Amino acid sequence: MRRLLAVLLLLATLAALGLSGAGASAIAIAGALGVTLILILSPRPPEPPAAPQPAPEPDNCRRVDMELIEAIGDPVLITGDGRVDAANAAARKLLGEHIVGEDIRVAIRHPAAAERLITRAEPSDSRPIELVGLGGRDSRWQMNVAALPDGRTLVHLVDRSEGHAAEKMRVDFVANASHELRTPLAAILGFIETLDDEKAGGDTATRKRFLRVMHDEARRMQRLVEDLMSLSRIEAEKFRAPHTAVDLGALVREVHAVIRDGGNDRSRDVAIDLDESLPFVSGDRAQLSQLLHNLVGNALKYGRPGTPVTVGTSAGPGSMIRLSVEDEGEGIAPEHLPRLTERFYRVDPGRSRAVGGTGLGLAIVKHIVERHRGRLDIQSAPDKGTIVTVLLPPAPIPLSSNGNASVTGG
Ligand code: ADP
Repeated sequence: MRRLLAVLLLLATLAALGLSGAGASAIAIAGALGVTLILILSPRPPEPPAAPQPAPEPDNCRRVDMELIEAIGDPVLITGDGRVDAANAAARKLLGEHIVGEDIRVAIRHPAAAERLITRAEPSDSRPIELVGLGGRDSRWQMNVAALPDGRTLVHLVDRSEGHAAEKMRVDFVANASHELRTPLAAILGFIETLDDEKAGGDTATRKRFLRVMHDEARRMQRLVEDLMSLSRIEAEKFRAPHTAVDLGALVREVHAVIRDGGNDRSRDVAIDLDESLPFVSGDRAQLSQLLHNLVGNALKYGRPGTPVTVGTSAGPGSMIRLSVEDEGEGIAPEHLPRLTERFYRVDPGRSRAVGGTGLGLAIVKHIVERHRGRLDIQSAPDKGTIVTVLLPPAPIPLSSNGNASVTGG
Protein backbone atom coordinates (compact mmCIF):
# COMPACT_ATOMS: atom_id res chain seq x y z
CA MET A 1 0.00 0.00 0.00
CA ARG A 2 2.85 2.38 0.97
CA ARG A 3 4.69 1.51 -2.21
CA LEU A 4 1.59 2.14 -4.30
CA LEU A 5 1.14 5.55 -2.64
CA ALA A 6 4.80 6.41 -3.39
CA VAL A 7 4.50 5.40 -7.03
CA LEU A 8 1.34 7.54 -7.39
CA LEU A 9 3.11 10.51 -5.77
CA LEU A 10 6.07 10.05 -8.10
CA LEU A 11 3.80 10.00 -11.14
CA ALA A 12 1.99 13.14 -9.89
CA THR A 13 5.35 14.93 -9.43
CA LEU A 14 6.47 14.04 -12.93
CA ALA A 15 3.13 15.26 -14.30
CA ALA A 16 3.49 18.52 -12.38
CA LEU A 17 6.98 18.93 -13.89
CA GLY A 18 5.56 18.48 -17.36
CA LEU A 19 2.67 20.94 -16.79
CA SER A 20 4.57 23.69 -14.96
CA GLY A 21 7.46 23.76 -17.44
CA ALA A 22 10.86 25.25 -16.70
CA GLY A 23 9.48 28.15 -14.70
CA ALA A 24 7.98 26.12 -11.88
CA SER A 25 9.35 26.32 -8.39
CA ALA A 26 12.43 24.08 -8.10
CA ILE A 27 11.94 23.88 -4.31
CA ALA A 28 8.42 22.44 -4.61
CA ILE A 29 9.62 19.78 -7.03
CA ALA A 30 12.61 18.83 -4.92
CA GLY A 31 10.32 18.54 -1.85
CA ALA A 32 7.89 16.22 -3.64
CA LEU A 33 10.73 14.02 -4.89
CA GLY A 34 12.17 13.84 -1.42
CA VAL A 35 8.86 12.68 0.15
CA THR A 36 8.51 10.07 -2.58
CA LEU A 37 11.99 8.68 -1.95
CA ILE A 38 11.40 8.53 1.79
CA LEU A 39 8.18 6.57 1.24
CA ILE A 40 9.89 4.09 -1.12
CA LEU A 41 13.00 3.52 0.94
CA SER A 42 11.58 3.55 4.48
CA PRO A 43 11.34 0.01 6.02
CA ARG A 44 7.93 -1.66 5.98
CA PRO A 45 6.24 -1.80 9.42
CA PRO A 46 5.83 -5.40 10.68
CA GLU A 47 2.56 -7.16 9.75
CA PRO A 48 0.19 -7.55 12.73
CA PRO A 49 0.33 -11.15 14.06
CA ALA A 50 -2.41 -13.42 12.64
CA ALA A 51 -5.31 -13.96 15.02
CA PRO A 52 -5.13 -17.55 16.44
CA GLN A 53 -7.66 -19.93 14.74
CA PRO A 54 -10.13 -21.42 17.20
CA ALA A 55 -9.59 -25.21 17.70
CA PRO A 56 -12.38 -27.20 15.97
CA GLU A 57 -15.12 -28.22 18.37
CA PRO A 58 -15.36 -32.04 18.77
CA ASP A 59 -19.08 -31.89 17.92
CA ASN A 60 -18.26 -29.93 14.81
CA CYS A 61 -15.70 -32.57 13.77
CA ARG A 62 -18.26 -35.31 14.25
CA ARG A 63 -20.77 -33.41 12.13
CA VAL A 64 -18.22 -33.08 9.31
CA ASP A 65 -17.32 -36.80 9.64
CA MET A 66 -20.98 -37.70 9.39
CA GLU A 67 -21.60 -35.49 6.35
CA LEU A 68 -18.59 -36.98 4.59
CA ILE A 69 -19.32 -40.66 5.22
CA GLU A 70 -23.07 -40.22 4.71
CA ALA A 71 -22.33 -39.27 1.10
CA ILE A 72 -20.84 -42.77 0.48
CA GLY A 73 -23.18 -45.57 -0.62
CA ASP A 74 -21.12 -48.43 0.90
CA PRO A 75 -21.13 -49.01 4.67
CA VAL A 76 -18.46 -46.78 6.28
CA LEU A 77 -17.55 -46.40 9.98
CA ILE A 78 -15.06 -44.30 11.93
CA THR A 79 -13.72 -45.99 15.04
CA GLY A 80 -11.59 -44.68 17.89
CA ASP A 81 -10.50 -46.27 21.19
CA GLY A 82 -12.26 -49.51 20.31
CA ARG A 83 -15.64 -47.81 19.81
CA VAL A 84 -17.70 -46.71 16.82
CA ASP A 85 -17.50 -42.89 16.55
CA ALA A 86 -19.58 -42.52 13.42
CA ALA A 87 -21.44 -44.80 10.99
CA ASN A 88 -23.26 -43.92 7.78
CA ALA A 89 -26.78 -45.06 6.89
CA ALA A 90 -25.52 -48.10 4.92
CA ALA A 91 -23.40 -49.25 7.90
CA ARG A 92 -26.32 -48.77 10.31
CA LYS A 93 -28.58 -50.74 7.96
CA LEU A 94 -26.08 -53.61 7.78
CA LEU A 95 -24.96 -53.70 11.42
CA GLY A 96 -27.89 -52.13 13.32
CA GLU A 97 -29.09 -48.60 14.14
CA HIS A 98 -27.58 -48.84 17.65
CA ILE A 99 -23.90 -49.21 16.65
CA VAL A 100 -22.72 -45.60 17.15
CA GLY A 101 -20.95 -45.45 20.54
CA GLU A 102 -20.82 -49.23 20.83
CA ASP A 103 -17.74 -51.41 21.33
CA ILE A 104 -16.42 -52.30 17.87
CA ARG A 105 -16.53 -56.03 18.75
CA VAL A 106 -20.26 -55.76 19.43
CA ALA A 107 -20.92 -53.54 16.39
CA ILE A 108 -19.12 -55.78 13.85
CA ARG A 109 -19.73 -59.24 15.21
CA HIS A 110 -17.00 -60.94 13.26
CA PRO A 111 -13.81 -62.36 14.82
CA ALA A 112 -11.52 -61.40 11.90
CA ALA A 113 -12.81 -57.81 11.89
CA ALA A 114 -12.50 -57.44 15.67
CA GLU A 115 -8.95 -58.80 15.63
CA ARG A 116 -7.90 -56.39 12.90
CA LEU A 117 -9.52 -53.32 14.50
CA ILE A 118 -8.64 -53.96 18.15
CA THR A 119 -5.05 -55.14 17.77
CA ARG A 120 -4.21 -51.88 15.96
CA ALA A 121 -2.25 -53.12 12.98
CA GLU A 122 0.51 -50.96 11.57
CA PRO A 123 -0.98 -47.84 9.96
CA SER A 124 0.70 -48.90 6.72
CA ASP A 125 -1.13 -52.26 6.86
CA SER A 126 -3.94 -51.67 4.39
CA ARG A 127 -4.56 -55.30 3.41
CA PRO A 128 -8.30 -55.90 2.95
CA ILE A 129 -9.94 -58.62 5.02
CA GLU A 130 -12.73 -60.88 3.80
CA LEU A 131 -15.68 -61.18 6.17
CA VAL A 132 -17.85 -64.23 5.46
CA GLY A 133 -21.41 -64.34 6.81
CA LEU A 134 -21.64 -60.72 7.99
CA GLY A 135 -25.31 -59.69 7.81
CA GLY A 136 -26.40 -62.99 6.20
CA ARG A 137 -25.23 -66.59 5.89
CA ASP A 138 -24.07 -66.41 2.26
CA SER A 139 -22.89 -62.80 2.28
CA ARG A 140 -19.27 -61.78 1.78
CA TRP A 141 -17.83 -58.37 2.58
CA GLN A 142 -14.40 -56.96 2.00
CA MET A 143 -13.25 -54.77 4.89
CA ASN A 144 -10.77 -52.01 4.02
CA VAL A 145 -9.15 -50.16 6.92
CA ALA A 146 -7.28 -46.85 6.79
CA ALA A 147 -5.62 -44.91 9.65
CA LEU A 148 -6.83 -41.29 9.93
CA PRO A 149 -4.37 -38.47 10.87
CA ASP A 150 -6.11 -37.97 14.25
CA GLY A 151 -5.38 -41.59 15.27
CA ARG A 152 -8.85 -42.93 14.55
CA THR A 153 -9.63 -45.59 11.94
CA LEU A 154 -11.79 -45.46 8.83
CA VAL A 155 -13.54 -48.76 8.06
CA HIS A 156 -15.01 -49.28 4.58
CA LEU A 157 -17.08 -52.39 3.79
CA VAL A 158 -17.56 -53.48 0.17
CA ASP A 159 -20.23 -56.07 -0.72
CA ARG A 160 -18.60 -58.94 -2.63
CA SER A 161 -21.52 -61.40 -2.27
CA GLU A 162 -22.76 -61.13 -5.87
CA GLY A 163 -19.29 -61.45 -7.41
CA HIS A 164 -18.56 -64.43 -5.21
CA ALA A 165 -21.86 -66.14 -6.12
CA ALA A 166 -21.16 -65.58 -9.84
CA GLU A 167 -17.66 -66.99 -9.47
CA LYS A 168 -18.97 -70.02 -7.57
CA MET A 169 -21.58 -70.60 -10.28
CA ARG A 170 -18.87 -70.48 -12.96
CA VAL A 171 -16.65 -72.94 -11.08
CA ASP A 172 -19.60 -75.28 -10.38
CA PHE A 173 -20.67 -75.09 -14.01
CA VAL A 174 -17.24 -76.10 -15.32
CA ALA A 175 -17.06 -78.94 -12.76
CA ASN A 176 -20.58 -80.18 -13.64
CA ALA A 177 -20.02 -79.97 -17.40
CA SER A 178 -16.73 -81.87 -17.09
CA HIS A 179 -18.37 -84.52 -14.94
CA GLU A 180 -21.29 -84.91 -17.40
CA LEU A 181 -18.84 -85.38 -20.29
CA ARG A 182 -16.46 -87.64 -18.40
CA THR A 183 -19.09 -90.31 -17.61
CA PRO A 184 -20.02 -91.22 -21.22
CA LEU A 185 -16.42 -90.80 -22.31
CA ALA A 186 -15.25 -93.30 -19.67
CA ALA A 187 -17.93 -95.76 -20.85
CA ILE A 188 -16.86 -95.42 -24.51
CA LEU A 189 -13.16 -95.92 -23.63
CA GLY A 190 -14.04 -98.98 -21.52
CA PHE A 191 -15.97 -100.59 -24.40
CA ILE A 192 -13.18 -99.84 -26.89
CA GLU A 193 -10.74 -101.68 -24.60
CA THR A 194 -13.13 -104.62 -24.30
CA LEU A 195 -13.67 -104.82 -28.07
CA ASP A 196 -9.92 -104.76 -28.54
CA ASP A 197 -9.80 -108.02 -26.61
CA GLU A 198 -10.03 -110.78 -29.23
CA LYS A 199 -12.30 -112.98 -27.14
CA ALA A 200 -15.02 -110.39 -26.59
CA GLY A 201 -14.52 -108.46 -29.83
CA GLY A 202 -14.66 -111.58 -31.92
CA ASP A 203 -18.20 -112.46 -30.88
CA THR A 204 -20.60 -110.71 -33.30
CA ALA A 205 -23.56 -110.44 -30.90
CA THR A 206 -21.39 -109.01 -28.09
CA ARG A 207 -19.68 -106.59 -30.48
CA LYS A 208 -23.04 -105.34 -31.75
CA ARG A 209 -24.33 -104.86 -28.21
CA PHE A 210 -21.21 -102.92 -27.20
CA LEU A 211 -21.30 -100.78 -30.33
CA ARG A 212 -24.92 -99.86 -29.58
CA VAL A 213 -23.99 -98.72 -26.06
CA MET A 214 -21.02 -96.77 -27.41
CA HIS A 215 -23.29 -95.10 -29.97
CA ASP A 216 -25.80 -94.08 -27.26
CA GLU A 217 -23.04 -92.68 -25.04
CA ALA A 218 -21.51 -90.76 -27.95
CA ARG A 219 -24.98 -89.33 -28.77
CA ARG A 220 -25.33 -88.30 -25.12
CA MET A 221 -22.04 -86.41 -25.34
CA GLN A 222 -23.12 -84.82 -28.60
CA ARG A 223 -26.43 -83.60 -27.10
CA LEU A 224 -24.56 -82.19 -24.13
CA VAL A 225 -22.01 -80.35 -26.28
CA GLU A 226 -24.83 -78.97 -28.48
CA ASP A 227 -26.76 -77.75 -25.43
CA LEU A 228 -23.61 -76.16 -23.93
CA MET A 229 -22.96 -74.35 -27.19
CA SER A 230 -26.58 -73.16 -27.42
CA LEU A 231 -26.43 -71.87 -23.89
CA SER A 232 -23.24 -69.90 -24.49
CA ARG A 233 -24.60 -68.47 -27.78
CA ILE A 234 -27.84 -67.31 -26.12
CA GLU A 235 -25.92 -65.86 -23.17
CA ALA A 236 -23.57 -63.97 -25.49
CA GLU A 237 -26.59 -62.27 -27.10
CA LYS A 238 -28.54 -61.58 -23.92
CA PHE A 239 -28.21 -57.79 -24.11
CA ARG A 240 -29.48 -57.70 -27.71
CA ALA A 241 -33.25 -58.20 -27.70
CA PRO A 242 -34.48 -59.87 -30.92
CA HIS A 243 -36.71 -57.70 -33.12
CA THR A 244 -37.97 -59.97 -35.91
CA ALA A 245 -41.76 -60.34 -36.14
CA VAL A 246 -42.46 -64.06 -35.61
CA ASP A 247 -45.80 -65.75 -36.27
CA LEU A 248 -45.97 -67.89 -33.13
CA GLY A 249 -48.97 -69.93 -34.34
CA ALA A 250 -47.15 -70.92 -37.55
CA LEU A 251 -44.04 -71.82 -35.54
CA VAL A 252 -46.04 -74.05 -33.16
CA ARG A 253 -47.57 -75.87 -36.15
CA GLU A 254 -44.11 -76.33 -37.68
CA VAL A 255 -42.59 -77.74 -34.45
CA HIS A 256 -45.64 -80.00 -34.05
CA ALA A 257 -45.08 -81.42 -37.54
CA VAL A 258 -41.36 -82.02 -36.87
CA ILE A 259 -42.14 -83.87 -33.61
CA ARG A 260 -44.90 -85.90 -35.31
CA ASP A 261 -42.51 -86.95 -38.09
CA GLY A 262 -39.64 -87.58 -35.68
CA GLY A 263 -40.70 -91.09 -34.79
CA ASN A 264 -41.31 -90.41 -31.08
CA ASP A 265 -43.76 -93.01 -29.73
CA ARG A 266 -45.69 -90.33 -27.90
CA SER A 267 -45.84 -87.75 -30.70
CA ARG A 268 -49.52 -88.60 -31.33
CA ASP A 269 -50.34 -87.28 -27.83
CA VAL A 270 -49.38 -83.73 -28.80
CA ALA A 271 -52.32 -81.41 -29.51
CA ILE A 272 -52.34 -77.72 -30.37
CA ASP A 273 -54.83 -75.06 -29.33
CA LEU A 274 -54.04 -71.73 -31.03
CA ASP A 275 -55.69 -68.32 -30.90
CA GLU A 276 -55.37 -67.32 -34.56
CA SER A 277 -56.18 -63.65 -33.91
CA LEU A 278 -52.96 -62.94 -32.01
CA PRO A 279 -50.35 -60.47 -33.29
CA PHE A 280 -46.83 -61.63 -34.12
CA VAL A 281 -44.28 -61.73 -31.33
CA SER A 282 -41.00 -59.88 -31.31
CA GLY A 283 -38.42 -62.65 -31.35
CA ASP A 284 -35.70 -64.87 -32.72
CA ARG A 285 -37.42 -67.65 -34.71
CA ALA A 286 -34.65 -70.25 -34.24
CA GLN A 287 -34.48 -69.67 -30.49
CA LEU A 288 -38.27 -69.78 -30.08
CA SER A 289 -38.27 -73.06 -32.02
CA GLN A 290 -35.61 -74.43 -29.64
CA LEU A 291 -37.70 -73.27 -26.65
CA LEU A 292 -40.75 -75.12 -28.01
CA HIS A 293 -38.75 -78.30 -28.72
CA ASN A 294 -37.34 -78.27 -25.16
CA LEU A 295 -40.72 -77.72 -23.47
CA VAL A 296 -42.66 -80.22 -25.59
CA GLY A 297 -39.73 -82.67 -25.28
CA ASN A 298 -39.93 -82.45 -21.47
CA ALA A 299 -43.71 -82.83 -21.46
CA LEU A 300 -43.31 -86.03 -23.52
CA LYS A 301 -40.32 -87.34 -21.51
CA TYR A 302 -41.87 -86.85 -18.09
CA GLY A 303 -45.50 -87.44 -19.09
CA ARG A 304 -47.52 -90.64 -19.12
CA PRO A 305 -48.14 -92.42 -22.42
CA GLY A 306 -51.68 -91.81 -23.63
CA THR A 307 -52.13 -88.51 -21.73
CA PRO A 308 -52.34 -85.31 -23.79
CA VAL A 309 -49.61 -82.69 -24.17
CA THR A 310 -51.24 -79.42 -25.23
CA VAL A 311 -49.39 -76.52 -26.79
CA GLY A 312 -51.49 -73.36 -26.74
CA THR A 313 -51.30 -69.66 -27.53
CA SER A 314 -53.58 -66.97 -26.10
CA ALA A 315 -53.66 -63.28 -25.20
CA GLY A 316 -51.64 -62.64 -22.05
CA PRO A 317 -51.71 -59.75 -19.56
CA GLY A 318 -51.20 -56.29 -21.04
CA SER A 319 -50.15 -56.66 -24.65
CA MET A 320 -48.10 -59.83 -23.99
CA ILE A 321 -48.72 -63.10 -25.82
CA ARG A 322 -49.00 -66.31 -23.84
CA LEU A 323 -47.50 -69.61 -24.97
CA SER A 324 -48.21 -72.64 -22.79
CA VAL A 325 -47.19 -76.29 -22.77
CA GLU A 326 -49.33 -78.46 -20.54
CA ASP A 327 -48.95 -82.13 -19.65
CA GLU A 328 -50.68 -84.61 -17.37
CA GLY A 329 -47.49 -86.33 -16.38
CA GLU A 330 -45.67 -87.12 -13.15
CA GLY A 331 -45.47 -83.45 -12.06
CA ILE A 332 -42.81 -81.83 -9.87
CA ALA A 333 -42.79 -81.45 -6.07
CA PRO A 334 -42.95 -77.76 -4.94
CA GLU A 335 -39.47 -77.77 -3.32
CA HIS A 336 -37.84 -78.38 -6.72
CA LEU A 337 -39.69 -75.64 -8.63
CA PRO A 338 -37.39 -72.69 -7.74
CA ARG A 339 -34.28 -74.60 -8.90
CA LEU A 340 -35.52 -76.17 -12.15
CA THR A 341 -33.91 -73.56 -14.41
CA GLU A 342 -30.46 -73.97 -12.82
CA ARG A 343 -27.93 -75.64 -15.10
CA PHE A 344 -27.76 -79.41 -14.53
CA TYR A 345 -30.50 -79.35 -11.89
CA ARG A 346 -32.62 -82.50 -12.17
CA VAL A 347 -35.39 -83.77 -9.90
CA ASP A 348 -34.29 -87.35 -10.55
CA PRO A 349 -30.85 -87.48 -12.25
CA GLY A 350 -31.10 -91.21 -13.09
CA ARG A 351 -34.50 -90.78 -14.73
CA SER A 352 -33.38 -87.69 -16.66
CA ARG A 353 -30.32 -89.51 -18.07
CA ALA A 354 -32.38 -92.59 -18.93
CA VAL A 355 -34.69 -90.49 -21.12
CA GLY A 356 -31.78 -88.63 -22.76
CA GLY A 357 -31.89 -85.44 -20.65
CA THR A 358 -28.85 -83.20 -20.35
CA GLY A 359 -30.13 -81.14 -17.39
CA LEU A 360 -29.79 -77.99 -19.49
CA GLY A 361 -33.18 -77.85 -21.27
CA LEU A 362 -34.94 -75.49 -18.85
CA ALA A 363 -31.80 -73.37 -18.33
CA ILE A 364 -31.79 -72.78 -22.11
CA VAL A 365 -35.53 -71.94 -22.01
CA LYS A 366 -34.95 -69.43 -19.20
CA HIS A 367 -32.15 -67.68 -21.09
CA ILE A 368 -34.20 -67.50 -24.30
CA VAL A 369 -37.14 -65.99 -22.40
CA GLU A 370 -34.84 -63.45 -20.69
CA ARG A 371 -33.32 -62.45 -24.03
CA HIS A 372 -36.85 -61.91 -25.40
CA ARG A 373 -37.69 -59.70 -22.38
CA GLY A 374 -40.45 -62.20 -21.60
CA ARG A 375 -41.55 -64.07 -18.46
CA LEU A 376 -41.40 -67.77 -17.55
CA ASP A 377 -43.66 -69.52 -15.08
CA ILE A 378 -43.74 -73.22 -14.12
CA GLN A 379 -46.70 -74.61 -12.23
CA SER A 380 -46.80 -78.24 -11.28
CA ALA A 381 -48.42 -80.71 -8.94
CA PRO A 382 -47.05 -84.23 -8.35
CA ASP A 383 -49.08 -86.89 -10.18
CA LYS A 384 -51.30 -84.24 -11.79
CA GLY A 385 -49.02 -82.59 -14.35
CA THR A 386 -47.12 -79.48 -15.28
CA ILE A 387 -47.97 -76.21 -17.07
CA VAL A 388 -45.08 -74.13 -18.38
CA THR A 389 -46.15 -70.63 -19.43
CA VAL A 390 -44.07 -68.16 -21.41
CA LEU A 391 -45.13 -64.55 -21.95
CA LEU A 392 -43.62 -62.83 -24.98
CA PRO A 393 -43.84 -59.20 -26.12
CA PRO A 394 -45.70 -58.45 -29.36
CA ALA A 395 -43.79 -57.27 -32.43
CA PRO A 396 -44.15 -53.52 -33.04
CA ILE A 397 -46.82 -52.85 -35.67
CA PRO A 398 -45.01 -51.73 -38.85
CA LEU A 399 -46.14 -48.44 -40.41
CA SER A 400 -47.10 -48.57 -44.10
CA SER A 401 -45.82 -45.94 -46.55
CA ASN A 402 -48.86 -43.71 -45.86
CA GLY A 403 -48.04 -43.71 -42.12
CA ASN A 404 -50.89 -46.07 -41.10
CA ALA A 405 -50.28 -49.25 -39.09
CA SER A 406 -50.36 -52.37 -41.23
CA VAL A 407 -50.04 -56.05 -40.36
CA THR A 408 -48.94 -58.56 -42.95
CA GLY A 409 -48.33 -62.27 -42.64
CA GLY A 410 -44.83 -63.73 -42.91
P1 ADP B 1 -33.48 -82.55 -18.50
O1 ADP B 1 -32.55 -82.59 -19.65
O2 ADP B 1 -33.01 -83.35 -17.34
O3 ADP B 1 -34.89 -82.82 -18.88
P2 ADP B 1 -34.36 -79.85 -17.97
O4 ADP B 1 -33.55 -78.65 -17.61
O5 ADP B 1 -35.15 -79.79 -19.22
O6 ADP B 1 -33.36 -81.04 -17.95
O7 ADP B 1 -35.34 -80.13 -16.77
C1 ADP B 1 -34.83 -80.19 -15.46
C2 ADP B 1 -35.62 -81.19 -14.63
O8 ADP B 1 -36.94 -80.71 -14.45
C3 ADP B 1 -35.78 -82.55 -15.29
O9 ADP B 1 -34.69 -83.36 -15.00
C4 ADP B 1 -37.06 -83.05 -14.66
O10 ADP B 1 -36.76 -83.63 -13.42
C5 ADP B 1 -37.86 -81.79 -14.41
N1 ADP B 1 -38.91 -81.53 -15.43
C6 ADP B 1 -38.80 -80.69 -16.49
N2 ADP B 1 -39.95 -80.66 -17.19
C7 ADP B 1 -40.81 -81.51 -16.57
C8 ADP B 1 -42.15 -81.89 -16.81
N3 ADP B 1 -42.88 -81.43 -17.84
N4 ADP B 1 -42.71 -82.78 -15.92
C9 ADP B 1 -42.00 -83.26 -14.89
N5 ADP B 1 -40.72 -82.92 -14.61
C10 ADP B 1 -40.14 -82.05 -15.44
